Amino acid sequence: MAVQKKPYVIAIEEHYWDKELAAKWGPGEGAGPPIIRDKLFDMYDTRIKEMDAAGIDVQVLSHGAPSTQRFDAETGPALAKATNDRLAEVCKAHPTRFSGFAALPTANPKAAADELERAVTKLGFKGAMIHGLSYGQKFLDLPEFWPIYERAEQLDVPIYFHPAVPHPAFIEAYLKDYLKSHPGITNAAWGFTVETATQGLRLVLSGVFDKHPKLKVILGHMGEGLPFLLWRIDHALSRPGGGCPNFREIFREHFSITTSGNFSDAALLCSMMELGADRILFSIDYPYVENQPGMDWMAHLAISTEDKDKIYSGNAKRLLKM
Ligand code: MN
Repeated sequence: MAVQKKPYVIAIEEHYWDKELAAKWGPGEGAGPPIIRDKLFDMYDTRIKEMDAAGIDVQVLSHGAPSTQRFDAETGPALAKATNDRLAEVCKAHPTRFSGFAALPTANPKAAADELERAVTKLGFKGAMIHGLSYGQKFLDLPEFWPIYERAEQLDVPIYFHPAVPHPAFIEAYLKDYLKSHPGITNAAWGFTVETATQGLRLVLSGVFDKHPKLKVILGHMGEGLPFLLWRIDHALSRPGGGCPNFREIFREHFSITTSGNFSDAALLCSMMELGADRILFSIDYPYVENQPGMDWMAHLAISTEDKDKIYSGNAKRLLKM
């Protein structure tokens, strides 16, 4: 009987918290059950044990939401720099197991672009992760943030758009009635998806990809629902006066998606049909989601070995130059 070779696995939406940064967040930011918090703060012990147990070779580490993004233009840059420097030390201690995405001070776009460049060229990071609205207020497609995308394009690294808790006005208008009985509605059950899908949609509408035709974007959670909706969005926006005759084409050219926290056969097959296997990257969303269920799901998927290998690590090697 042929022995199946263990696949090489790179997981790219895997979070940690930096103690010094988390101590500076406002009250209520980054709450969560103690077991999750312990794992977020643990860089070496439980983390590597759990990677080994599940068969995950590399985690591309990113700071959990809200990372450095709710600080103002003056405070953010130094905090992001120090946080990225400490992450670089972790990656240096285990270079075969860890890599990193930079935290950016988005409230100061020029400093964010400079920090992205420093993180990629000096620290060896693979791109950056952005968490929801800048300073809790502004969508990242606005032209004031384009210096970040210009630099990402020059450096040829992707920007990963990750959820954070949505704007309070959205929660108030759409979700308030179910906050107490179903608190997940503001986050992974719905609020995260609506917010991050909106970021992705707005990026396309903003025209940033016309200005920066080599810009690459990553969305987690199987594309935040957008692959399923692509035909309808495209159909509506390409009507006369719709303003975007090629939404689907732009999305398919610039976006990659990951499996983080969405181990659904149906969602994956839909995404493969819309984007192709070259645009889908393996992720867990550790420690919010456990490694083993994600690995078990991948192992049993009825797709070709070639496509599976692309998703496990082949696409990450190409997109992140690993
Ligand atoms: Mn995540």
